Amino acid sequence: MMLARRLRSSTIRWAEQLAPLVSHNQTQTQIQTQIQTQIQAQRLYSSSASQDDGPHKPKGTPDIDPSALTIERTTAPKPLLDHKDLIFGRNFTDHMLSIEWTAQDGWLPPRITPYQNLSLDPSACVFHYAFTCFEGMKAYKDSQNRVRLFRPDRNMYRLNRSSSRIALPTFDGDKFTELISKFVELEERFIPKQKGYSLYLRPTMIGTQNTLGVGPPGSALLYVIASPVGPYYPTGFKAITLEATESAVRAWPGGVGDRKLGANYAPCIVPQINAAKRGYSQNLWLFGEEGYVTEVGTMNMFVAWVNEDGVKELITAPLDGTILEGVTRESILALAREKLVPEGWKVSEEKYTMAQVKKAAHEGRLLEAFGAGTAAVVAPVKAITWRGEEVKIPLSPGKETGPLTESFWSWMLAIQYGDVEHPWSKIISK
Ligand SMILES: *Cc1c(COP(=O)(O)O)cnc(C)c1O
Repeated sequence: MMLARRLRSSTIRWAEQLAPLVSHNQTQTQIQTQIQTQIQAQRLYSSSASQDDGPHKPKGTPDIDPSALTIERTTAPKPLLDHKDLIFGRNFTDHMLSIEWTAQDGWLPPRITPYQNLSLDPSACVFHYAFTCFEGMKAYKDSQNRVRLFRPDRNMYRLNRSSSRIALPTFDGDKFTELISKFVELEERFIPKQKGYSLYLRPTMIGTQNTLGVGPPGSALLYVIASPVGPYYPTGFKAITLEATESAVRAWPGGVGDRKLGANYAPCIVPQINAAKRGYSQNLWLFGEEGYVTEVGTMNMFVAWVNEDGVKELITAPLDGTILEGVTRESILALAREKLVPEGWKVSEEKYTMAQVKKAAHEGRLLEAFGAGTAAVVAPVKAITWRGEEVKIPLSPGKETGPLTESFWSWMLAIQYGDVEHPWSKIISK
């Protein structure tokens, strides 16, 4: 009785919220259906889901079903580019993987089709309210020509965290990985064999509902496209220079900087252009009056120094909601705990400030700094300009990287390319 009353009153509240958004030329039934869909969708995204506590599954509707996959092969296979001509994210493979979702029917049968344009209504919510999130991962070819993914479970976890935060549906990560594996297998000829090369995978989810009403999308599309990519450093490391940015803020407490939402990236381009005009490769994003170091461009930031207690320390910002949970970040931390801690290093996920970095540099305690992300693995930093002063960061003699940064790079590549067997590397080819 109580529950019924509560449900009824929440239905009315929803209807009231929606009323101003409903256009005048809709029929009563259309309005009814729209409200019904929104209410249904609202139930699927219980308040706990929007309260950031990770993946949830819409109850009672089908999850992704790999056994229902259909494959339509292209009749016009693309010519392979010479591996030296590959430009990041510019060329795509023959096919794409797509899975549609509706609030009513859940995840529909997955499809692999020729790579093609999407056809969406101009009112589709992705175009207006940024219902879009994505992942970045890679498939690698090992020395025995087997295809490998690196920690795909972490990307699946993160995509679910991103999608649930913007009222898009969640899914079973293992099932989606199984489909991605089938897709990658089909595109195997596009994975360059050369060391350092890989097939970049871009899982993307968008809200596709046709409505200008601001509400949870009643339909979505999850798709994956793939782009063969070359090594980030074709001619050896190239250390980057950073501008510590205080005029713009990338992420803030209670915001969504810890999710890979499309909405987080467009606003970072103008600050990036401005930094580039002044001759810097990337922005170092600071936060707050204290000048906390958060991330570099779209990478996590690491600093190695001898701390104020005289202990060698590798430090990166903590996952406090303003930092993207990088798979590379997590892997580097694990490798550091395994390999550096026994040698007396301290490994910290703690807040640290630009003032501390500058002080360490002045006192000769600054050892190295680098960005970390899937595209580059590690990006050595040689200088950070902050409030008009250039803070210089040491590199190995005659090299564009420090020794620690280089070690992480080779440890990571050895695992990703299967030169050493490791549980993080998942063989997907038969
Ligand atoms: C994707 C991303 C990273 C790196 O994540 P990886 O999983 O290591 O590729 C770091 N910061 C931001 C803002 C990102 O978008």
